[in-house]
Amino acid sequence: MTDFVIKKPSRTCLPVKGSKSMFPIRRVYCIGRNYAEHAREMGHDPDRNPPFFFQKNPDNIVTNGRFKYPSKSSNVHHEVEMVVALKSGGNSIPVNLANKHIFGYGIGFDMTRRDLQHEAKKLGRPWEIGKAFEQSAPCSELYPIENTGIIKNGSISLYVNDNIRQNADLSDMIWSVPEMISILSEYFELAAGDIILTGTPAGVGSVQPGDNMRAIIEGLGELGITVY
Ligand code: MN
Repeated sequence: MTDFVIKKPSRTCLPVKGSKSMFPIRRVYCIGRNYAEHAREMGHDPDRNPPFFFQKNPDNIVTNGRFKYPSKSSNVHHEVEMVVALKSGGNSIPVNLANKHIFGYGIGFDMTRRDLQHEAKKLGRPWEIGKAFEQSAPCSELYPIENTGIIKNGSISLYVNDNIRQNADLSDMIWSVPEMISILSEYFELAAGDIILTGTPAGVGSVQPGDNMRAIIEGLGELGITVY
């Protein structure tokens, strides 16, 4: 048995609906500006130029229903997103075969230190300090695709303290799930355990400690998160 010089770091896993088995996370990809109205609210014209991606760290995922307000920011935003989890991968995956790599779907939050992200954008710096911080990706359990079927549409919404903030339809995505898997696979070798946060609709806004966020995606249940 291999011995390690430090305690081996644990791997974050997502629970699976209707199963005792867990889904281990390898990488976390996120797509930017994938809903036209959200692109506009961020000050950009929506377009079909090639999409852009960034990553969070697997250990940024939390599944305990809580989100710790991060340090160094006074403008932390919610972004509700559908999560797509892959059971296989590869390079140069054609769009028409991309759905075959999907294990299942879930609900996720791309929590964002918006002030630090804006500063990074302005200075032409990477986004990590705005995006890839501790607990920045609360996620739900995964719903296997055998049970949900391929998800192309359905409502996605987010409430903060019972006030609706974000509400759209998954069919409003500029780049569909198969398209984003295909494009990502041109740049990265995708593999089992990778998850993709598929972008957020308009209505992003700030949260404070004590707030309760509730995300609902049609067919995927709901995910409640307390900010503390
Ligand atoms: Mn996002």
